[in-house]
Amino acid sequence: MICVSIGRTRHKMMIAEHRALADKGAQLVELRLDYLSRPPDLVRLLNERPTPCVVTCRRDVDRGRWRGSEAQRQALLRAAIAAGVEYIDLEDDVAGEIPRYGNTNRIISHHDFAETPEDLAEIHKRLSALDPDIIKIATMANSPSDCVRMLKLVASARVPTVGFCMGELGTASRVLCGKYGSPFTYAGFSNERELAPGQFSYDEMKNVYRFDEINSETKVFGVLGDPIAHSFSPLVHNAAYAHEKMNCVYLPFRVPKDALMTTLEDFEWLDIRGYSVTIPHKVAVIAKADHFDGPVQEIGAANTLFRDSQRSWCASNTDMDAALTSLRTAMEERQFADSSLQGKRVLLLGAGGAARAIGLGVVRRGAALSITSRTSEKTAELASKLGCQKIQWENRGSVFCDILINCTPVGMHPNVDESPFPMHWLRDNMLVFDTVYNPENTMLLKQAREHGCRTVSGVEMFVNQAAAQFERFIGQAAPRDVMREALRRGISPVKFWIE
Ligand code: NAP
Repeated sequence: MICVSIGRTRHKMMIAEHRALADKGAQLVELRLDYLSRPPDLVRLLNERPTPCVVTCRRDVDRGRWRGSEAQRQALLRAAIAAGVEYIDLEDDVAGEIPRYGNTNRIISHHDFAETPEDLAEIHKRLSALDPDIIKIATMANSPSDCVRMLKLVASARVPTVGFCMGELGTASRVLCGKYGSPFTYAGFSNERELAPGQFSYDEMKNVYRFDEINSETKVFGVLGDPIAHSFSPLVHNAAYAHEKMNCVYLPFRVPKDALMTTLEDFEWLDIRGYSVTIPHKVAVIAKADHFDGPVQEIGAANTLFRDSQRSWCASNTDMDAALTSLRTAMEERQFADSSLQGKRVLLLGAGGAARAIGLGVVRRGAALSITSRTSEKTAELASKLGCQKIQWENRGSVFCDILINCTPVGMHPNVDESPFPMHWLRDNMLVFDTVYNPENTMLLKQAREHGCRTVSGVEMFVNQAAAQFERFIGQAAPRDVMREALRRGISPVKFWIE
C-alpha cells in the first residue's frame, strides 16, 4: 500500500488533493496538519474523507511547520483519535503521553534528518515498547550502504515496520522496504510537492515502480551512477517489466564515485541481479567483473554488470552494438546504396566513453575514422588506441565525411539550442547521428534536416542498449516498442517545451 502525504496551507486545497488522490486509486492518505495556515478543522478534513487517513502534525524539530503550542498539538492529535481516524502518527518522545483509544492504529515514528545511526536496532526496541501498531523509522542516508542496514532492520522486525532512508542516496529504500515487509511506503502528491527529501510522487511509486506488486520474490535491478535523479533507465526498464508482467523492479542507485566497490559489496545482501552503469562508474566497475561479454576491455568501459547463470558477475558494453544497429537500420531505411560501414568516412565528435565504444565499433566495421574533441590530449590518446586520424576541434568543419556522429553532450537538455557542429559545415549527403536522446530532436539534427542530411537520433541507440541489457538481465527478448514509447513519454515535456 502507498500512503500519499499531502501538506497544503488551505483546507480547501487539502480536501481537493485528497479527493483527487482517491479518484486516482490511492488507498491511504497522510494529512500533514502542520502545513495548514489556520487551526486545523478536523470535522471538515475527516467527516467525508474519501480514503482512510493518517493524521500527522510535525513540530519544528521534526522539520514540520506547526506554529501552535505543544499542548495544542497534542490536543489536536487526541481529537483526531477521538474522531476515529484510521492511523495517528505519534513521535517517539510524545507517544507515551497519548494513550490508545478506539480503533485508531498507532504509528510510532522516529526521524533522523542527519544520519542513519548505528544503533537502529536499539531505537526500534525503544519504539516497540510504546504500544505501536506500526513503527516508522526514517533516517538520512549518507551512503548507499545505509539503506542496507535499514532494510535488514525492516526484514527482522517483529512489529510491522515502515523503514526507509531519506535523501537521494536513500530513494531506492522507499521502494525496497516493500520487499522486506513494510506494510506501506510514503509518496508525495506530485514531484513539485515533495514533503520529504528523496520522496517519489504517487504516480511514480504506483505506475513506474509498481509498489503494490512488490513482494519478497521481486527480483531487483537498477542503475548505478552519480548524478542519477534524471536517468530515464528506470522508466524504460520498469515499463518493459510491467508489459511482460514480470515480478521485477528497476531502481535508481545514486552511488558517489569513491563508494562504488563498498556499495557493490554491501548490496550483495539485496541480491541485485543486474545493474546498468553510467557516469562516473563505467571504468571502475570493470574491476568487479569475473568475466566479460563482448569487447569491454578493448573499449575500457562497461555499461552493464549482471549475474550470469553461475551467479558470477559479468560485465558488458551494450553501447557499441546499440550504436552500430541504429546506424545500420538508418542506412537501410534511408536507402543508402550500401548499408555497410566498410570504407565510409566517419567523423566522431568527442573522446569520452560513448566515443570509445562507437569508435571501436566503426573501425571494426572497416570505416575510415577521424576523431576530434575539445581536449587534444584525449583526442590523441583515443586516436592512437583506435589507429585512426585525429583532428583539431577548431578544424572539424574541414573534414570531408559520409557520417557525422556526435558523442558529446552538446545540445542535451537544458542546453537545447546548442550544436557541436555549426550548420554551415554540414553537407547535403551526410548521415548525421546524434547520440544525445534528450531531446530527441536536437539542434544538430534539426539543422541537419534543414540542410537535407539524413539523420539518426539517440533515442534508437538508447532503446537498443537498454533492450540488450534487458536481454542479459532476464534472458528473453525485450519489448522494444514498449521501451521506446516509455522513453518518448519521459522526454516529451522537454520536446514540447523547445517547440
Ligand atoms: P563522457 O565520457 O563524459 O565524454 C563526453 C565527451 O564530450 C568528452 O570528449 C568531452 O570533452 C566532450 N564534451 C563535453 N562537453 C563538451 C562541450 N561543451 N563542448 C565540446 N565537447 C564537450 O560522456 P559519454 O559517456 O561519452 O557520453 C557523451 C554523450 O553521449 C552523452 O551526453 C549522451 O547524450 C550520449 N550517450 C547516449 C547514449 C544513448 O544510448 N543514446 C549512450 C551513451 C552516451 P572533455 O573530455 O574535454 O570534457
